Formats: sequence, C-alpha cells, structure tokens
Amino acid sequence: MEFDGVRALVTGGASGIGLAAARLLTERGATVSCLDLTDPPAALHGVRADVRDDASVRAAVTAAAAHLGGLDVLVNNAGIGAQGTVEDNDDDEWRNVFDVNVFGMVRVTRAALPHLRRSEHAAIVNTCSIAATAGLPQRALYSATKGAVQSLTLAMAADHLRDGIRVTCVNPGTADTPWIGRLLAATDDPEAERAALAARQPSGRLVSPEEVAAAIAYLASPLASATTGTALAVDGGMAGL
Ligand code: NAD
Repeated sequence: MEFDGVRALVTGGASGIGLAAARLLTERGATVSCLDLTDPPAALHGVRADVRDDASVRAAVTAAAAHLGGLDVLVNNAGIGAQGTVEDNDDDEWRNVFDVNVFGMVRVTRAALPHLRRSEHAAIVNTCSIAATAGLPQRALYSATKGAVQSLTLAMAADHLRDGIRVTCVNPGTADTPWIGRLLAATDDPEAERAALAARQPSGRLVSPEEVAAAIAYLASPLASATTGTALAVDGGMAGL
C-alpha cells in the first residue's frame, strides 16, 4: 500500500491504535496529522482538541487541513471505554462516553467533510469494535456507543457515496494498547490478568495495534476502492467463533 501524496487526519492519534495507524500511513508516504487531547510523539504532527468540544474540533481540523494542504483520509479513532451493566453507569457516564465515541466522531466528520469533498480519493475509516455486535457482558454502555458507530458508518457511506467519499469501519477485538494496559494495571495481578485475557481470545493472544492499523490503511487505500459501508473485523476470530 502506497500513500504518496495522501493527506490524513487521525483522531486519537497520540496513542494505541491511532498512533499505529498514523505511523503506518506516514511510513507508506502519507502526510499525517494527529488530533488528540495530547501531543503525539515528536516525529508526528499533532493538533490538540477535545472531540467533545465543537469549537476545538473545528479549529483543530482547520489547522490540520492547512498544515497538510487538504484532506484525503480521516481516521475517526478517538474513543474511551466503559465497563458495567446498565445499572452500573449513571446518566453522566452515559452522556460522556456517547459524547466522545459517537458525537465526537460526528463533530470531526462534519468539520472534515468540506475538505474531503475536494479530494480525488477520499475515505473515512471509523474505529468501531467487536463490541458493536458481540453481546459482550459488562459492556452495555461501550457496546451501545460502538453499535451506534457501526450504524453511523453505514448511513454515512450511503450519504457520501455520491461525494466520492468511502466510509468504512474496523472492528477490533481486544487490542494490546495503553488503554488495555491501564485496565490490567488496575488489577491485583496484571500479568496473570493479561494471560487470562489472551487465553479468552480464540487466537490465544491479543490483537496488536499494528494489525488494526494495517486494516485501517487497507480500507483507506485505493485497494479498497469498491468497498464502502463495510465493517472489517480484526479480532483474531472472535466474531466468527
Ligand atoms: P488509547 O487509550 O490507547 O488511545 C485512545 C486515544 O484517544 C488517546 O490518545 C486519547 O487521548 C484519545 N482521546 C480520548 N478521548 C479523547 C477526546 N475527548 N478528544 C480527543 N482525543 C481523545 O486506546 P486504543 O485502545 O488505542 O483505542 C482507540 C480506539 O479503538 C477507540 O475508539 C476504542 O474504542 C477502539 N477499540 C479499542 C480496542 C482495544 O481493545 N484496545 C478494541 C476495540 C476498539
């Protein structure tokens, strides 16, 4: 996959899956800007924004497009987790996780669309999750946000096909990112928990951020030129087993 001349914006690009995607696109020739609460590693360009705040999103997308000279690819990846049943998270938690995972994606997309419409090969790749369809226990709120992301992906694909913009999503299984590292670190025995988590995967291991990044890059590339509205599982077999 070659991305020479491609201009890409990656949200949540300072960590985990977003950082791996930003690095892969850069290695393959793209110019990349990472939109995040924090700066990415020094080798990457970053614009700071909180996807819950429309004004900061608009300013950051404008700054990124100015830096890159336009936008061809948007990777909508910023997201946060939540654990529990519907009884465990209060209304404020529901609002906050939807604000980041769903409305944040809507805000960034709205700000990016005018730039993407001017591109010859525009693509949006949303980071969804296997949680959208897997019926995972203790993930009611998080799963609901990712179900919304998968539906939004389909709807956006239909709406923007005539604009020449493909819209797809990746559905990772449990991926070995700093987020999962933080969850494990909060347990009594992180190493034992990591081994137990890996053992619960059909493949016996966690997915790497680089494996998810490869799927994002494929969907963003002209190799996927006839693919839109599709959810690509990157889950070590979890969805199919
Ligand atoms: P991560 O915590 O390593 O990275 C997430 C990034 O998003 C961080 O850099 C963070 O600062 C940024 N972010 C969070 N809230 C933000 C906000 N309000 N505004 C701007 N940026 C914000 O997590 P990750 O595991 O790389 O997750 C990335 C995406 O992958 C998320 O959408 C997540 O739901 C999805 N996902 C992760 C897994 C997994 O197992 N790690 C599985 C399926 C899907």
